[in-house]
Parts: sequence; C-alpha cells; structure tokens
Amino acid sequence: MKVLNKLIIFVLLIGGISACSEQANLKNKVTADINVIINADIVTMDSLMPAAQAIAYSEGKIIAIGSNEAVLAQVGADKSIQDAQGETIVPGFIETHDHFYLSSAIFLVTDIQPFTTPTLAGALEKMSTAKPDKDGWVLGFGADQTLYQEKMGPSRQDLDKLFPNDPVVIFHLSGHGGFVNSKALEISGIDKNTANPTGGYFEKDAQGELTGYLSGIPAVSMVRGFPDANEKSALLAAKQRAAAGVTTSSELALMNKKFLIELSELTQSGTFPMRIVAGYFSTAPDYKEMLPALKNHENSLLKIPFIKTWTDGSIQGGTGSLKDGYYQADFGSDGAQGSQEFFNQQILDMYQQGYWPAIHANGDNAVELALNAIEYAQQKLGENSKSIRPQIIHAQVTNKAQIQRMAVLGANPSFFITHVYYWGDLHYETTLGPEKSARLSALGDAFSAGIKASMHNDPPVSPVNPLLNMWIATQRKTTSGRILGAEQAITAEQAMLAYTVNAAYQFGMEKEVGSLTVGKNADFVFLSDNPLTIKASEIKDITVLKTVLAGVTTFELTTKASK
Ligand SMILES: [Zn+2]
Repeated sequence: MKVLNKLIIFVLLIGGISACSEQANLKNKVTADINVIINADIVTMDSLMPAAQAIAYSEGKIIAIGSNEAVLAQVGADKSIQDAQGETIVPGFIETHDHFYLSSAIFLVTDIQPFTTPTLAGALEKMSTAKPDKDGWVLGFGADQTLYQEKMGPSRQDLDKLFPNDPVVIFHLSGHGGFVNSKALEISGIDKNTANPTGGYFEKDAQGELTGYLSGIPAVSMVRGFPDANEKSALLAAKQRAAAGVTTSSELALMNKKFLIELSELTQSGTFPMRIVAGYFSTAPDYKEMLPALKNHENSLLKIPFIKTWTDGSIQGGTGSLKDGYYQADFGSDGAQGSQEFFNQQILDMYQQGYWPAIHANGDNAVELALNAIEYAQQKLGENSKSIRPQIIHAQVTNKAQIQRMAVLGANPSFFITHVYYWGDLHYETTLGPEKSARLSALGDAFSAGIKASMHNDPPVSPVNPLLNMWIATQRKTTSGRILGAEQAITAEQAMLAYTVNAAYQFGMEKEVGSLTVGKNADFVFLSDNPLTIKASEIKDITVLKTVLAGVTTFELTTKASK
C-alpha cells in the first residue's frame, strides 16, 4: 500500500500541484519518471532484506526494492528498465571525516602525494611539467620524506635544477611545512642568517646552508600560503569523490563566514554531485556570532550539525597526546590542546547550543579528555542531551575501557584506519611501539562493544578511498606487509556497515541514506564485484563503475565499454 500511496503522490506532483522541495536542488536533473534496474546483485545493507535483484526509484527516492518479479509487479513493466547484467549495487559510501572544500585547492597545484606518486624521482618528474600560476609561482602539494620510497623530500638543489628562475613551493603532505627553491627564498628575503619563526624552523645542512625544507606553518607561510579553494577546485574534488563511490561527504573545516557562504552556494547550484555534512570551527574568529545562524545556511545537500574542536594534534607529527608518551620519547611531546576544565566547558557550550561536538582526538590521552567532557555535558544536561550525537574523530589510540565508555556515552568514533597501512610501520617502530600500534583504530573492539563505528580518509591527509579503507580494516596490513593487531580486524560486512549504515547514523541521516530501503534517497554505486562475497583480501581491487545520487548519475567509468 505504501507504494500505491507514493504513486498517487507522484501523479499529483506531475499535475503540478506541488514541487518536492527536498529535492529542489537537483530539480534540473531529477525526474518524475520511474526508473527500474533489474538483474542486479544488490547489497541493500538493510537487515530486513539484505539482498535484492531489482530496485525502482523516482523523484530521487527509492520506491521499490526486491526480486525482479516483485519490483516489476509493483511499478509496472512499462517503465524505463535497465538490465544490470549481474553487476553489484551497494548504497552510496559516506565519508565521515573529509575536508572536501578546503582540500580541493590541491586541484589548483601539482599533486605529488606519495599515494599516487610513490617515489621522489617520480614526484620531481611530475613537478618538471608544472607551470607557474598567474603570480609566477610554481606550486605543488603532497611531498613527504617519510612516505616516498627514497625516504627523502625534494632538496633546494633538486628544485633549483628544475626551476632556476621561477619561485617554487611544494607544500608538505601534512600541510605543516614545505619544500622551496632558492628563488622562493630570495623573493621572501630569507637566508641562512634569518631567525626561525615561533612554531617553525628553516632546516639547515651540516655546513649551515638552507636545505629548502621549511618546517611548520609559520615557516612556510613566510614564503607563501596555500591557495584558497574555489568553485572550480570544489567541483573537481566532488567528482573525485563520486569516482570513489561516495555520495555523502563532509567538510569539518568551516573556518569562517566566507567559507560557509561559498560552500552553501556551491551546494545549491543545482548540479552539485554530493551531499555534504559540515562542522564549524570552534576556533573561528566569528564563532560566537555565527553559531545561532549556521542552520540558515543549510539546504537539501548541506547539513551543519557539528562544531569541530581538537583535544590533541597528530601522532606522526609529534603532537599527539599519549598516556605514556611516545615510544621513542624524543619523537614528540604532549600535544594536548587544553585542560580538562577547558574542554568540559567547551563541549557543554556546544550541547547547550544544540550542536553536535566533532572532537579530533588521536592519542589515548586526547580520547580521555574528549570522553570526560562528553560525560560532563551529559551529566549536567541529563535527558536533554540524549538527541546529541558526539563524534570522536580519528580515535587512533584507545584502550578497552575507553571503547566501553564510547558505547555507554553514545560517542561515535570515526576511525582513521588508513594509518594502519601507510603509517603503520612508523607507528610500530617509532611513535607507538608494538603494543599500542596493535590497537590503532580498534574497530574490532568497537564492533564487539556494539558501537556504530565509521572510517575516513581525512583529505588532504590521504585521498578518499572507501574500498581501500575497507580492505585495510579487514587485513590490518602495513605497506611493508606487517600485520598490526590482527584481533582488531573486522569482517567485510562490518566494513560495509562502517561506510553506510553507521556513517549515516553518525550524521543523523539514517532515515535518508545508508541503506537501499524504500523511502530513502536513491544514492547507490555499481561495483565490479560484491564486497561481501569476494575474498576480503581483494576488496581493494574492486572498481567503482558508476555512482548515482538521488537517481542522477554523478560518475561513470568511461573505459567500461572497452572491457
Ligand atoms: Zn581532519
């Protein structure tokens, strides 16, 4: 009967009585026609009907799902029917911690991230083709001396050889430094006698000459800042995420009003290919003024439930907050960003304003600060606090007791599982040691405790790649092949839950997205294989063939025809 009601509503809509405002932004493309896909291998992630063959959608919403016969009987066999020929369909993936807009500026410079350019030699070759921007600067992003195979970054001399006359800045993958050439230093008036700024330094070799590596944002920003994102870069970033099967992503770096307005306009453009869930910076200069007005900037593709704060820095950056300090003690120091009293007050304030705290916490001490503050707010506010869903971002190092507390407090972790693979060896050998690195992203414990855990890539730190992260979560392998904490491995089904149902819950969108269920958005992805039936060790080799948002194709693999 539900379907019949929907059909009646649909007929009324065609009659022009009302427009579906929820989908107004996609109105250029979303049609009132009924589309049907049959003969698919559908993983619904809906426990009431885990598998299906056919799906029908209209006006961007799913109107029927089940066997070929059942769906065609419901909607009629005279509709637009696509034969999937056995291809797998899963719910659109949800990236729970992205800096989608901020990091899109990568598309405005030459990208030499080690994930796609694994050697320094390859990175320099790529840089050699870079062209100066309108101000005459050659800009790159993503060099990292710890991740290139040579374990070295580009030197001043390397860059001078490529660009003797143009200034060059290659921003470090962490965003907290850069590699520059002689011309860039000369223009900026920096030489070997220049004093280091507070919070950074100009690296020197044994002879006291500048190497060209500038450590820390204060040092690199004396030469040049990273370009601002714009509409062009944002659309490229959105397409990149669609190509990874993502239909809902996030922007946890709304730093000021200008940024917020740009993002709001972008998502209302009518052609934007993604849903975005955002959080405003608690450190934004206009935080107090903006808080009451944030919701006014929401639209059908943009939700702003979160306020972002940090209880520590980054473990590999030497600024994590760890209960027992660093494994190699001189690698870093305690990076706690405030006292317990400070965070108690800050989180309570977010609760009182009706916002959901999104708390960056990497080390176990940082997680403790976050959980204590959440508990404090909940005890102060009692029942009133129940509708608020705090999120612990990264949660890289946790102990068993903290996982239990997350379950009790309803503090949902979004794990930065990518660390196990790319930085796992560094954590094992240097930052955390064997015991604590085995607990990196303790997804196994989280699922055992019944927590709705999710996973993320945190761009620009690593590119959005749900299938790679699902593989890492099931295999727990580092790039050298070492296994980190086999007991924290999860099943392929749990990894899928993390990217669909659980992520939707963390975003308060469980009625709209996360599973292929009648009434939810027609957000889904065609994959080359079924992640639940393929060997888990092969999940990373699955290809995204096509991505669909509210019934509209946002990505299609062009080489598919030649297969
Ligand atoms: Zn982040």
